[in-house]
Amino acid sequence: MPNKEMIIDDSTANLMSTYNRFPLTLTKGSGSYVWDEQGAKYLDYTSGIATCNLGHRPPYVQAALVDQLEQLWHCSNLYHIPSQQQLAGKLAENSCFDHVFFCNSGAEANEAALKLARRYAAEIKGTGQYEVVTFSQSFHGRTLATLAATAQEKIQQGFAPKMPGFRHLPYNDSDALADLIKPETTAVMLELVQGEGGVIPARKAWVEQLVAICRAHDVLIIVDEIQTGMGRTGTLFAYQQYDFEPDIVTVAKGLGSGFPIGAVLAKAHVAKAFSPGTHGSTFGGNPLATTAGLATLETLLGPSFLSDVQEHATYFKTKLQQLAEQADAIIEVRGTGYLLGLQINGAAIDYVNKARELHQLLILVAGPDVIRILPPLTTSVEEIDQVLHSLTELFN
Ligand code: PLP
Repeated sequence: MPNKEMIIDDSTANLMSTYNRFPLTLTKGSGSYVWDEQGAKYLDYTSGIATCNLGHRPPYVQAALVDQLEQLWHCSNLYHIPSQQQLAGKLAENSCFDHVFFCNSGAEANEAALKLARRYAAEIKGTGQYEVVTFSQSFHGRTLATLAATAQEKIQQGFAPKMPGFRHLPYNDSDALADLIKPETTAVMLELVQGEGGVIPARKAWVEQLVAICRAHDVLIIVDEIQTGMGRTGTLFAYQQYDFEPDIVTVAKGLGSGFPIGAVLAKAHVAKAFSPGTHGSTFGGNPLATTAGLATLETLLGPSFLSDVQEHATYFKTKLQQLAEQADAIIEVRGTGYLLGLQINGAAIDYVNKARELHQLLILVAGPDVIRILPPLTTSVEEIDQVLHSLTELFN
């Protein structure tokens, strides 16, 4: 019999060990800050991995959730849910898409997008094309289909056989685009800034070539905006900084300010491939989730919100570049808006640990030699300056 005391003492004793956790237990959050069990305060530049885009417990979202908690928590999708249509309508109004399917996470959103691409080929085009092309270092999720889409062996290892119907090409490589389309290809799926893969933005010229090829062959373009979406890169969606309209976009993370929600947005001619009974989710788009999503989106669309993000993020990146010029360990500053990465000479995790221990600053890694910095979009210039001060000390 295991010793009960020991189990109570060990904060992960009954959890499957799918995560390497930092030695920190967070119990409270407000704005850009979180507090641990002892009351120590940390500046959170991880935003729950690009999820708490409005900071912790944004008041407008909290008030909407509290109000909804007193009305109705859940009802099935067998009934009409007004906040679902309101959120879908607002997403459509502010993008190039017409219809939305709601689910609960990023992987689920990608899973639904992959199903939609196959069904579009089967039902609308009548071709039965099924293959989806994705790119090196991508990250699309942990379900069996989305890990097959993820072009990283370490994510796929131990889960064979890999679901068929995926092919991977090198990211940002124009020459490789000659192999983009095969007769069985129905869609291409990509991130416009690879987040987990090392904060790598897609080159505009490469995207332009890729789009031209897809259009010429009537192949769908799915943009995975699970990390880049909801204002993270300075526009509501990252694709809005490129010169094309995707057929499908997936979002999650920042959509609910921390309340679990995911969504697939599609153009009308693609969306109509889903008919009643073809896809669904018990929790998808439930009243609480879509209330959180609507209040989040209304905040992001507020006057000057996104232009302020762009201005402050440009200031932050410029200052990081100045730091990189004088700090030998920083090789490159990368990223768009508030999805930023520092490629460094050394182990990124060491800097992340020192930032937490010495400066009460929470930041992330994105691969062994990349520090990932994901401030809340609401962070102040004073907080940015405080972080720059901490990073300057860390790198000197
Ligand atoms: N796609 C991208 C680009 C992501 O960054 C993530 C998560 O980090 C996912 C998909 C998977 O999202 P989730 O963890 O909500 O399933």
